[in-house]
Amino acid sequence: MTRDTSSAFGPADWSARTRLVRGGVNRSGFSETSEALYLNSGFVYESAEEAEASFNGEKDRFVYSRFRNPTIDVFEERLALIEGARFCRSTASGMAAVFAALACTVKAGDRVVASRALFGSCRYIIAEILPSWGVEVEFVHGPDLDAWAEAFRRPAKAVFVETPSNPTLELVDLQAVADLAHAAGALVIVDNVFATPILQRPFALGADVVVYSATKHIDGQGRCLGGAILTNDQTWFEEKIGLFLRHTGPCLSPFNAWVLAKGLETLDLRVQRHVENAETVARFLEGRLGRGIARVIYPTLDSHPQAALARRQMTAGGTIVALEVENGKEGAFRLLNRLSLIDISNNLGDAKSLICHPATTTHASLPDEEKVAQGLTPGLLRLSVGLEDAGDLVRDLEIALG
Ligand SMILES: *Cc1c(COP(=O)(O)O)cnc(C)c1O
Repeated sequence: MTRDTSSAFGPADWSARTRLVRGGVNRSGFSETSEALYLNSGFVYESAEEAEASFNGEKDRFVYSRFRNPTIDVFEERLALIEGARFCRSTASGMAAVFAALACTVKAGDRVVASRALFGSCRYIIAEILPSWGVEVEFVHGPDLDAWAEAFRRPAKAVFVETPSNPTLELVDLQAVADLAHAAGALVIVDNVFATPILQRPFALGADVVVYSATKHIDGQGRCLGGAILTNDQTWFEEKIGLFLRHTGPCLSPFNAWVLAKGLETLDLRVQRHVENAETVARFLEGRLGRGIARVIYPTLDSHPQAALARRQMTAGGTIVALEVENGKEGAFRLLNRLSLIDISNNLGDAKSLICHPATTTHASLPDEEKVAQGLTPGLLRLSVGLEDAGDLVRDLEIALG
């Protein structure tokens, strides 16, 4: 007897947790349990005719790993299933995904609107590269809906938002901004890295395109770089992003795709634990206000000015806590140098708790007035809360705070 695998209970019926574990599985003739790793660049053909048919579009098959690869397919299909998107393409890094999404959407003379508080390299693409190509760019204070409405009084080709933002955890009301953006003709691109696919579903809130740095929570164990672009817009996917990636070549390595596909299997579990730990750490730091700590920022804390939006738009507050230490840079550096468990590192979303001083590292290149505008004070630290025992993390902070 053989099992009927074409049963009525397929990926479309599965819940998100099942999709994380089983989505995209495509076993080879060896019937391996875990996903196989196809670490190859090219493919061979049975005949000259088959090669011809593969290039003229008559035959759908793997041709070259810059276009598609079986292991990369598994990662893309799994992520698409989780996100609820029809199409997904992976990239070598998160920045390759962000750049491709913008570069294949806008041309000279177009206008792009973006939230002001962005990951440094996203900001560089929008503030430096796009204008040098004749694209008009406008930055908006993310939480200010009146400012978004004002910006969309003129037509725009794309809007790029990051929510929660790095490192000050400002939120953008995705549904409200998507409605305004669509009325102005803009494609809505959301960088969902901080929220992860588990805690925020941008497509349900009006996004047209979602981009990820898979380097962060999707790998989640500090092993490799990767990125992804997801959309339900078939025309954009087929006529723009698909061709752009195929011909410019920022493709993911099959090895990294394999690591990331396996990372997705535990993403839900890990993010839940990250969130529990982040909530514990945030509450501990709130208890230290006035005793070494000047401010704690975490989206679902009552003290966050957008806590109501956070609770509506996300299922939890995320994995990152921002804290402002008393005595500015000196106080911040002192705390960093006194930690013994939490590592000083600019990565995030890792199993290991990582902390950094954005003003002198990730955001060092921002002009001083832009740092002020973004609330990037000298005492601000960004803590990516890991999977260690929460009590140990609190103890490490307690000792370091003295
Ligand atoms: C890290 C990050 C990126 C860039 O991803 P890489 O994989 O490092 O290229 C983009 N956006 C956000 C919000 C990030 O945190």
